[in-house]
Amino acid sequence: MALIVQKYGGTSVGSVERIEAVAERVARHYTDGDQLIIVVSAMSGETNRLLGLARDLTSNPSPRELDLLVSTGEQVSMALLAMALHKRGIDALSLKGSQVAIRTDSFHSKARIQSIDDRRLRAELNQGRIVVVAGFQGVDENGEVTTLGRGGSDTSAVALAAAVGADECQIYTDVDGVYTTDPRIVDGAQRLDSITFEEMLEMASMGSKVLQLRSVEFAGKYQVPLRVLSSFKEGPGTLIKMDEDDLMEAPTIAGIAFNRDEAKLTVIGVPDTPGIAYQILGPIGDANIEVDVILQNVGDEGKTDFTFTVSRSDLERAEAICELHIAELGALEWRSDSKIAKVSVVGVGMRSHAGVAANMFKALAEVGVNIQMISTSEIKISVIIEEKFLELAVRTLHSAFGLDQGQALEAQDL
Ligand code: ADP
Ligand code: ASP
Ligand code: MG
Repeated sequence: MALIVQKYGGTSVGSVERIEAVAERVARHYTDGDQLIIVVSAMSGETNRLLGLARDLTSNPSPRELDLLVSTGEQVSMALLAMALHKRGIDALSLKGSQVAIRTDSFHSKARIQSIDDRRLRAELNQGRIVVVAGFQGVDENGEVTTLGRGGSDTSAVALAAAVGADECQIYTDVDGVYTTDPRIVDGAQRLDSITFEEMLEMASMGSKVLQLRSVEFAGKYQVPLRVLSSFKEGPGTLIKMDEDDLMEAPTIAGIAFNRDEAKLTVIGVPDTPGIAYQILGPIGDANIEVDVILQNVGDEGKTDFTFTVSRSDLERAEAICELHIAELGALEWRSDSKIAKVSVVGVGMRSHAGVAANMFKALAEVGVNIQMISTSEIKISVIIEEKFLELAVRTLHSAFGLDQGQALEAQDL
């Protein structure tokens, strides 16, 4: 008997009919003899709707109340799915994060899971029940409801799978696996049968929202076998591979990720002296603002331009910090630009193939896309470009690296 955690995303539980379809699928697995924990998201659009209600009311909602509000979305889905299972004669019950005891820290709207008490889960499973759990939510040590950040139900599922030692964690969504890039942007994107854990981690952290980054981190840390599948059609989906034994076979580039949530600040004419990077980024870090890509250009007169990117939601705060410190930095001025985006090519094969960066830059140059900033890791190259060129850049790179349907995945040694 296998113990499986299945997670159904917003679109998959987006209407009563779709919840019935999920119940049918769950019932089939149950009849096959699997023990099942089902994690659900809010019905599609619901989390945004709830956030919108709060925004209509106040520009400064209490983080505690906001978490109480948005966590209701998942509770609607979980109870409806339990009812749909009852209708099929299946013994099921739904549990909120606090009822399971998914314990988190106290950072509202971006809480991190600290521990999961598996006793209740195991007791229910041992009674032959299916347990339906509300994703995205937990409870802190004071009993306060917390949420795990957008897309956080993925993380709930993987963390639950780790806690109970599940045989597999299956993420059911509206695409039938992980693709070479977002299939909404590139028609010719291809489903990958498997992707290495490291590549999935980079794809998620570079903006592919098919899996929340934290969920991939959890899967790696606790070695949870993870698969992404469609809730609408049958198929093998994509396996996130934890071991990399057949790396020889790996294509150079597994996929292309992109992120619109980038904004750029440039401090102009800073004296080129030791400690300047620290003086600029220190206060940014103190304000808990994450810096992504950094670029420093040294000019001839001992002056330098210092550019860095932050997420768009942090831009206003970062601007205020630049304004505050501009005089003491001895800088001339600062500028910002939020109409930028980041495109990344990701692949473990990069380790053993030279020239990937050159090919990337050549392909972008040929379609007239200017690169503003570059950052690399061992298995990723990212560029910051003007946002209006984002889709063109993704499509161009997708085909330049041989990822379009019909192009052989292996034939990408350009
Ligand atoms: P869910 O509501 O099920 O959690 P999400 O909208 O969070 O679904 O994630 C699925 C979406 O992720 C897809 O519809 C697709 O547009 C997007 N996506 C982005 N990059 C990729 C990729 N590389 N492969 C597959 N889907 C991707
Ligand atoms: N409902 C939450 C969101 O929309 C969590 C999730 O769907 O994973 O972000
Ligand atoms: Mg999601």
